[in-house]
Amino acid sequence: MMPAGTQILVLKEGTRREKGKGAQFNNIAAAKAVADAVRSTLGPRGMDKMLVDSLGDVVITNDGVTILKEMDIEHPAAKMLVEVAKTQDEEAGDGTTTAVILAGELLKKAEDMIEQNIHPTVIAGGYRLASEKAREVLDKIATKVSMTDTDVLRKVAITAMASKSSSGHRDLLANVVVKAVTMVAEERADGSHYVDDDDIQITKKQGGSIADTELVEGVIVDKERVHPGMPAQVENAKIALIDVALEVKKTEIDAKIEITDPSQLQAFLSEEENMLRRMVATVHKSGATVLFCQKGIDDLSQHFLAKAGIYAVRRVKKSDMEKLAKATGGKLVTKLDELSKDDLGHAKLVYEKKIGDDQMTFVTGCKDPHAVSILIRGGTEHVVDEVERSLEDALSVVACAVEDGKVITGGGASAAEIALGLRDYASTVGGREQIAIEAFADAVEIIPRTLAENAGLDPIDTLIAIRKEHKKGSKHAGVNVFTGKVSDMRKENVVEPIRVGAQAIASATEAAVMIIRIDDVIAAKAGGAGGGAGGPKGGEDGGGDGEEF
Ligand code: ADP
Ligand code: MG
Repeated sequence: MMPAGTQILVLKEGTRREKGKGAQFNNIAAAKAVADAVRSTLGPRGMDKMLVDSLGDVVITNDGVTILKEMDIEHPAAKMLVEVAKTQDEEAGDGTTTAVILAGELLKKAEDMIEQNIHPTVIAGGYRLASEKAREVLDKIATKVSMTDTDVLRKVAITAMASKSSSGHRDLLANVVVKAVTMVAEERADGSHYVDDDDIQITKKQGGSIADTELVEGVIVDKERVHPGMPAQVENAKIALIDVALEVKKTEIDAKIEITDPSQLQAFLSEEENMLRRMVATVHKSGATVLFCQKGIDDLSQHFLAKAGIYAVRRVKKSDMEKLAKATGGKLVTKLDELSKDDLGHAKLVYEKKIGDDQMTFVTGCKDPHAVSILIRGGTEHVVDEVERSLEDALSVVACAVEDGKVITGGGASAAEIALGLRDYASTVGGREQIAIEAFADAVEIIPRTLAENAGLDPIDTLIAIRKEHKKGSKHAGVNVFTGKVSDMRKENVVEPIRVGAQAIASATEAAVMIIRIDDVIAAKAGGAGGGAGGPKGGEDGGGDGEEF
């Protein structure tokens, strides 16, 4: 806009700047590209992606957030879509692909409107109104669910796992998930429930089959007992948790001890032995029958512990120690001398069991009934990892359902109902915002459309059939991706917690609005790449400085 010749440079040389529609379209294109990258994975008949990182490690997954996290995305607007997936994952634990696809579609519709000279502010306003209305529609069509509706909760788990490759074992895994969540759920004063997912420990052990995956009421420590002479199982265990080594400290400096007569050597050695003996005696005296030690245990100490009939494990991870403390009610002791009977935790049964090629320690029947673990098994590392991802999704959705007490139907049913509600609503708003709200309605339908597409169905025919059912008042009509028919998703057992849908709409709208409101991109020159190292100014932006002056 400025007259030629009067251009004033306020930005550092090398700064990239893009303005107006060019900036908007560029940002939208980048964000759409991200959405397109995950589109084909949506739903039970979506495909998987194989991700290979720079070290050649392979991940095979269908999980939106995992895919986006592994992709090396650079474009700032594209990165915002990755953030959408992350937020969705944190807030609801599932629906990451949905949220990203929806954001992409909202942007695509926005692009069309910008081309028709509808101002981004109007679009943003319309989208915000639509998002609020969509939430209302969801609240209206949601049904109540309680902790005791284990049937519904299992369906929620199965729906979340349906799109993962481990879905062949979904009944077993759903049972494990529902049992785990209902065990750890704590009731609040107002009768609602709270689930702390930290209470559910997930342990993976490659080998066996997915069918061997089990729920353990307690804590699993991936360690064996240190000495075969120790009991392999201890009932009514009294558990000491210490973070000091049962070893004699080696001298820091290389000390030379000159021994002139054999009795001195004997005295020296027995002094070491006595120290270890005293340490073990302290443990024994406290009444402990099981010892978890965060540090090392000397061979001799192991021998003494075995003689005392104590089950001992060494070099336990700090995080496991903390879990054990919480589960057994024991206290982590940092000074051995201070160990007393009051510090001990309790568990009905501690035992060693061979899982795959390794021995593991199981601490069951803990004082705290909220401590549960899931032991995942599976043929290969990739299988175990993907089972973990689907279990995590299932755990979060069941937890959400328990906490919020409300579920909606999936398979595009709720999306279709939102679209219908929004079209009615749009006409009451009028003006240019009406166009944006209608565009939002069209965008939401990307969910049933993509589900149909990925199932090899005709997306347009399917969408028309779904719309017709919803117009007739079938609020739960969605696409059964297995039969290809449009039917009631309650009958098909496709149910999701309301939070997954609500969060997907909220974060997709937020990201889309943020991106379309940007009409100026000012990008600093990539730091550090150019101007040689070691200049006195150095620092993070050293690269740019070098060339400028
Ligand atoms: P996201 O990362 O968004 O969770 P998914 O690949 O897990 O993506 O797919 C979730 C979608 O699949 C949801 O819209 C859900 O309703 C749908 N879905 C799950 N099971 C079925 C089913 N049996 N029939 C149709 N749609 C289903
Ligand atoms: Mg999912």
